[in-house]
Amino acid sequence: MENKHHIGVFGGTFDPVHEGHIRIAEAVLACTRLDLFLFVPAYLPPHKRVPVAPFHHRVAMLELALDEKNRTGWPGPGQVEVVISRIEAELKTPSYTIDTLKGLEGRLGPAVFHLVIGADSLVELHLWYRYGEILQRCHLLVAARPGISPAAVQDAIDRLPGGYVRHGSSNIWRSSVPGSNRTITYIDSVQVPVSSTRIRQELAAGRRPAMVAPVVLEYIEKHGLYRCQGEETGD
Ligand code: ATP
Repeated sequence: MENKHHIGVFGGTFDPVHEGHIRIAEAVLACTRLDLFLFVPAYLPPHKRVPVAPFHHRVAMLELALDEKNRTGWPGPGQVEVVISRIEAELKTPSYTIDTLKGLEGRLGPAVFHLVIGADSLVELHLWYRYGEILQRCHLLVAARPGISPAAVQDAIDRLPGGYVRHGSSNIWRSSVPGSNRTITYIDSVQVPVSSTRIRQELAAGRRPAMVAPVVLEYIEKHGLYRCQGEETGD
């Protein structure tokens, strides 16, 4: 890695945050040397349904989940700072990743950005607004997700601009565009079979879902979130 500030940017709806999100962050931190890792909750995601829980609740649940991890410590070689960025609440909507990256660059100054996404998001990346520009601005760290095969990951990478070529049998692809040092790293040390959709379904059915931190479940209960599927609930 270049001798610059390295920032991981993990965007998501976090509706609600679950063990998959946390384990992805852990896996990324275990194999990179980042200085800062940002969880960036989407204010209004463009390529998804409208979030069920309002932004302030999703941020509060993320805070609770991270408080616990920040106390026990994150893996990895560096002294990384793991924080929540509320930048998307300040930017225009919908919350496009390209705008978020530019906003972060403006606020944090020159840095090397590493965008963290799940393999399901990689497969859809070519549908994202100005995705070519996103790829020019940052490295990608892609977490494996059950249901998305390594072959589907390779196909998705082949579809992207940047002429990414796999480095031997490693899980690193490098852009072949002259002057570009962009990489895509596939992290398959984790496979976490969970989604926020399933958790919301379980909650709406009155069940207690697995893979959600107990403090987050308490919060959900206290604020009456996700009682009805697909509708905005809670105060
Ligand atoms: P939903 O079910 O509401 O679509 P989600 O579980 O996919 O939500 P998001 O907050 O939308 O969660 O995801 C944020 C990012 O984390 C995305 O890039 C997504 O691909 C990734 N991600 C979420 N859960 C997992 C998981 N279990 N394994 C790998 N990647 C995941």
